[in-house]
Amino acid sequence: MRSFVFERAADLPQAVKLGAGTRQGQTDAPAQFLAGGTTLIDLMKLEVLTPQRVVHLQSPGAPWSAIEVSPNGARLGAFAKMSTVADDARVLAQYPVIAQSLQLAASAQIRNMATLGGNVLQRTRCPYYRDPSWSACNKRVPGSGCAAIHGFNRNHAILGVDENCISQYPGDFAIALIALDARVELMGAEGTRLIPFASLHTGVQSQPHIETTLKPGEIIIAFHVPAGAWTRRSLYLKVRDRASYEFAIASAAVALSIEGEEVREARIGLGGMAYRPWRSQEAENILIGNPLTESSAAAAAAAALKSAIGHGHNDYKPELARRTIVRALLEAKALQLSSGAS
Ligand code: FAD
Ligand code: SF4
Repeated sequence: MRSFVFERAADLPQAVKLGAGTRQGQTDAPAQFLAGGTTLIDLMKLEVLTPQRVVHLQSPGAPWSAIEVSPNGARLGAFAKMSTVADDARVLAQYPVIAQSLQLAASAQIRNMATLGGNVLQRTRCPYYRDPSWSACNKRVPGSGCAAIHGFNRNHAILGVDENCISQYPGDFAIALIALDARVELMGAEGTRLIPFASLHTGVQSQPHIETTLKPGEIIIAFHVPAGAWTRRSLYLKVRDRASYEFAIASAAVALSIEGEEVREARIGLGGMAYRPWRSQEAENILIGNPLTESSAAAAAAAALKSAIGHGHNDYKPELARRTIVRALLEAKALQLSSGAS
């Protein structure tokens, strides 16, 4: 690990000032924030990230780590630990897809350390990105090429990719957030602002090294999840190579509102298969207004995967993804909810 300046911010406004050079999601950012450290320290040890300054966002208390659930929705403080939110009885009851996306992520030790804000900003697990001895990686070294396209790409993405980068967004929580139309509360030099979670991560757009739309110094302070008839009938299905402590190779966050036989609302987020947290409104549109059956679920999955493209080792993924979406939808339909929920 290289030497760097370590600074402790007394509070978040001071952290914003100290992090002025920090454009999160940009590999060559000269300053990086430190929250739980489970991504940042890993990548610094590997010399993938080499910031000159690390600004510790030292465990800010309430409201930055508070969990609030009301009839209008949920506000999850960005400094809440993954494990705290995963175990919160109100989140479990009202937003099971969120609780499950956190419960099924990483290990108990990591969940106790890692924060929600750090989780959504975790980096790809592409082995060529994580190993600087590979010279070709556009995400790590802009303009250097992509070693994965003709290399070992079994875990790589099939949606939202192009010849610049085929890496997979690895997180779980973000898939629940994008499905539920969450918004992100940010604090920066010009004050606070709220943006749709769907606009936090960028697409490849020839610039894989730029991963978010955060402004320099901006800090994620909370996630806002709107209430809806669909949040209780929701689940997160994660398919991985082993049953625990493993990233998704395909996952689906689904939330449904069903009246009688008819699907009134549907929300579908996809993980493990796309370049960035992915929502499939094409699939949702096929379901809404119709009964949910195996064949309508299959049609929705086909719509979600219409633009899927494999690069050899990951050619198995469209079929795995299709089955994951169908299973998640049918399991969500079969959920037995207590009275008052649809
Ligand atoms: P840090 O490492 O402190 O920060 C990560 C990045 O976010 C840094 O660039 C930092 O500058 C920035 N940052 C942090 N907080 C903020 C903020 N509030 N505002 C602005 N920028 C900020 N994740 C899954 O989803 N599913 C898994 O299955 C999974 N498995 C894992 C297995 C292993 C072995 C490991 C090491 C990690 C795994 N993870 C998994 C990833 C893990 O969940 C993340 O590392 C963790 O959530 C990051 O949170 P953190 O607080 O430690 O972030
Ligand atoms: Fe780098 Fe993306 Fe290619 Fe992986 S897939 S080597 S992260 S450019």
